[in-house]
Amino acid sequence: MNVVILKEVKSGEARVAIVPGVIAKLKNLNLKVKVQKGAGEKSFFSDAEYAQAGAELSDSHASLLENADVVLKVQPPEKNELDALQPGTLLIGLLNPYGNPELVKSLAKKKITAFALEFIPRISRAQSMDVLSSQAAIAGYKAVLLAAMHLGKYFPMLTTAAGTMKPARVLIVGAGVAGLQAIATARRLGAIVEAYDVRSQVKEEIQSLGAKFVDVTLDEDTATQGGYAKEVSSASKEKIKNILKEHVKNADVVITTAQVPGKKAPRIVTEEMISQMSAGSVIVDLAAEQGGNCDFTKAGETVVHKGVSILGPVNLPATIPVHASQMYARNVVTLLQSIIKEGTPCFNFNDEVLNACCITHEGKIRVEELK
Ligand code: NAD
Repeated sequence: MNVVILKEVKSGEARVAIVPGVIAKLKNLNLKVKVQKGAGEKSFFSDAEYAQAGAELSDSHASLLENADVVLKVQPPEKNELDALQPGTLLIGLLNPYGNPELVKSLAKKKITAFALEFIPRISRAQSMDVLSSQAAIAGYKAVLLAAMHLGKYFPMLTTAAGTMKPARVLIVGAGVAGLQAIATARRLGAIVEAYDVRSQVKEEIQSLGAKFVDVTLDEDTATQGGYAKEVSSASKEKIKNILKEHVKNADVVITTAQVPGKKAPRIVTEEMISQMSAGSVIVDLAAEQGGNCDFTKAGETVVHKGVSILGPVNLPATIPVHASQMYARNVVTLLQSIIKEGTPCFNFNDEVLNACCITHEGKIRVEELK
């Protein structure tokens, strides 16, 4: 069986689905590895390194896809890639199924067996395949670095001959994987950190990283059984707003990461709150691509309102492409190891991980909400 690794073509995407270091694991699965030339260029993995690891290199995506049994990607396939995919091919990637229903229909129509990494369940057994987590941690880390770059102040407290500089005050909103890594990074840089999450279960994790938990007691369940946040009522939103506004006002940096799966990101930081922040403060909105957690956020842009910079970065994992690709590749190989048995794909849908993330198979859409 041929496994093909394509060069990502989406603008701003610098990651690659497989790095040379994991090719031996693919070969152990009896797969023949074929890599499009230049696939690892933007993440600093050369064609020579792929060849040395035992991959065959080829120029054209079309000829690679003609004979592909398995295709590994980061981004969803572009139209020309989709056109070249052969029926029966196994495709794995971040396929953005909720945001791209037309692609899901086309994959089913073309009889592609597609695995969307976004749908890997957040269970212990699947942690080593959990691309959302490995990439979100990178985004959380980079968000803090971006904030530090834009802030006109030091993060740590510094006592110098020219006086004592107070530490920066950082507020993290949403303490999932990205938010927790943002807390840890801001603490390592010496900031005073507080964090809020609608799921009060994360209080201890926040505190264990050395941050203060902003406690807002609500009269409703805020988490699903799967551990994700639920959308809260208007009354709860008002209560959260009243408590958060004081914390936003006192922060030099606010990093927002709040998401509700399958929904537009909740709007949390309002114009009123931003207007009360000191000039020179910085907001980094990691939910920019899902509509943003803040008023004024524009995906891919920086907006300045009354001296406050509101950054809406997109695809931050791609800005740390070496480690992002290494982690992505390990996650994908682990998933593939649970699919390929004795050199052939074995779609065991009694396995809850495979069942959850296989979105199309044998011409059918397998996920109810996508039909
Ligand atoms: P996410 O990206 O869906 O959301 C980020 C955070 O925003 C979450 O913590 C969420 O509670 C929070 N949020 C949502 N609405 C909010 C609001 N209005 N105000 C404040 N905060 C709000 O989250 P994620 O990082 O993907 O993690 C989701 C869940 O999955 C968590 O419970 C996490 O611990 C769990 N998880 C489990 C595993 C595993 O066991 N394999 C791996 C990763 C994550």
